[in-house]
Amino acid sequence: MLRSSSLRLPLHHGNDNDNNNNHRLPTEQHHRLLQSFNLPFELKQLHAHLIKTRLPLTLLPLTRVASVSALTPSFSYAQTIFERVEKPEIYLWNSCLKALAEGDCPNDAVLLFYQLRKFGVFPDSFTLSFVLKACLRLLDVGNGRIVHGYVEKLGLSSNLFLQNTIVHLYASCGEMADAWLLFDKMSDRDVVTWNIMITQLIKRDDIEGACGLFSQMPERNLRSWTLMIAGCVQCGKPKEAIRLFLELEKAGLKPNEVTVVAVLSACADLGDLHLGRRIHEYSTRSGFGRNVRVSNTLIDMFIKCGCLEEAQGVFNEMKERTVVSWSAMIQGLAMHGKAEEALKLFSKMIRVGVKPNWVTFLGLLHACSHMGLVEEGRKFFTSMTRDYGIVPKIEHYGSLVDLLSRAGLLQEAHEFIKNMPIKPNGVVWGALLGGCKVHKNIELAEEAIKHLSELDPLNDGYYVVLSNIYAEAERWEDAARVRKLMRDRGVKKTPGASSITVDGTVHEFVAGDESHPQATKIFETWDRLVEKMKLMGYVPNTSVVLLDIEEAEKERFLYRHSEKLAVVFGLISTPARTPIRIMKNLRVCEDCHEAFKLISTIGNREIVVRDRNRFHCFKDGSCSCRDYW
Ligand code: ZN
Ligand code: ZN
Repeated sequence: MLRSSSLRLPLHHGNDNDNNNNHRLPTEQHHRLLQSFNLPFELKQLHAHLIKTRLPLTLLPLTRVASVSALTPSFSYAQTIFERVEKPEIYLWNSCLKALAEGDCPNDAVLLFYQLRKFGVFPDSFTLSFVLKACLRLLDVGNGRIVHGYVEKLGLSSNLFLQNTIVHLYASCGEMADAWLLFDKMSDRDVVTWNIMITQLIKRDDIEGACGLFSQMPERNLRSWTLMIAGCVQCGKPKEAIRLFLELEKAGLKPNEVTVVAVLSACADLGDLHLGRRIHEYSTRSGFGRNVRVSNTLIDMFIKCGCLEEAQGVFNEMKERTVVSWSAMIQGLAMHGKAEEALKLFSKMIRVGVKPNWVTFLGLLHACSHMGLVEEGRKFFTSMTRDYGIVPKIEHYGSLVDLLSRAGLLQEAHEFIKNMPIKPNGVVWGALLGGCKVHKNIELAEEAIKHLSELDPLNDGYYVVLSNIYAEAERWEDAARVRKLMRDRGVKKTPGASSITVDGTVHEFVAGDESHPQATKIFETWDRLVEKMKLMGYVPNTSVVLLDIEEAEKERFLYRHSEKLAVVFGLISTPARTPIRIMKNLRVCEDCHEAFKLISTIGNREIVVRDRNRFHCFKDGSCSCRDYW
């Protein structure tokens, strides 16, 4: 007797009065009702009914029978049904195992596997592949080893797919020794096997190991190349990433979206606008323009290469934008000193209904900080938590301290630091120190350095700033004491390094560098340039040189700053009127900042400098930062 009304089946197949339309009804109804059982007892009722009405058991959807009975005491009951059908039993259980392995509860796949063993169902290679998949998802190396044992026992050790999955499982679970053992033992490996090992090495930041494997690969596919390119970017080797990308192109492979995203990040890190632009064209040609990740990476690349307009172009073309796209643009405008436009873009973002995240607010705070918009900055900081429930991170605190300090509100900045709910880090105190330098507050500078020397004892930048503060206040003894302290503590000045890309080649200069093939020409050009600059009122600002040396010697040091070498090289090796783009590892110094303003007029060039903090765009004698940096 059927209790559930939903399972009530028609007892008769049509009757004498049926017309054609009605005649089909019972089978359709049957079909629907046969699909509607969800519990073992409903299955039993259906089964009984089929027997009573002498309908064939094959009417039951057997994979469903398997899934309803898989992990219940009805398991053997399902088996009795399967005995009556022609399909091999394992086929039915496998489909169920696959669904469990790929579903929300992969652990059930492992349980079902043991159930199968218990009831004497003989596994095949598919069974093992599905349960291995479940183990992989669960990172369950214990059960994985047991399944590996079955693979060996069943003589499936030449099944490449299974072997690859087991290597993958061992490596993902951190059992690298076992993964290597199996890898070495495998009689047959395909490109998937190699890619698995490369992926795992990169995950462990072992880029050398990955390179080693990559070079030994008998055959590489696009995924292998892409993995390596992304790996190099991740491990801070953008130059290597670009070299690989060029090699990939030479090998005749067509980069896909993932490759493009990886190599664009390398271009962004290196400021390689030339390649970045080429990839932009390639992406457009290949129809990647609709891929949000590609577009977001393009925006990031253009911004980091100092091409705000091109970034804006990509942003405007996008059919669909995510919070990442908006935040990148806001941050970009902020870095280029376009605070008002950044704030306008934020209003637009809110209007179209995109919810900001913590990166968005960081961009807004930077925008306010670089342009001295104190009120707006305070408002954003409050609104972030109040209106959007975003808990400020240390970066937001750093940014607000920066904003207050630059604006000269040093006491307020200090109070703010003291009341922070999280422990202030070096960046936070460093921001206060920076403000103390601009606004000549020695007392708070000493307070900041006290914390900085504990938090970040080997960072030379802070000592340099403090020494400059003393020097400007003509407290020479204190300045000398700080320099001595730097020497005693073993603090070494990070050498300034700047790079410029000309015709696709990156030229790097470090301070004092005389090794460039064109060094002589660079120095001659500089000498001529500095004469003209002096006529325009340039006075070398030797206070940024912290060495105990003669004044003339200091000037020589100053003239060999890496960014000056790079700019002069740009002047002599690029066509007239093309912008010169420089990247510097540290903050651009005040002397170079003044010099570049003059050079932009004398050379009639736009000079874009990306330093550690922001962009400076020098044009017609002034900088986009309006000297507020
Ligand atoms: Zn400099
Ligand atoms: Zn500037």
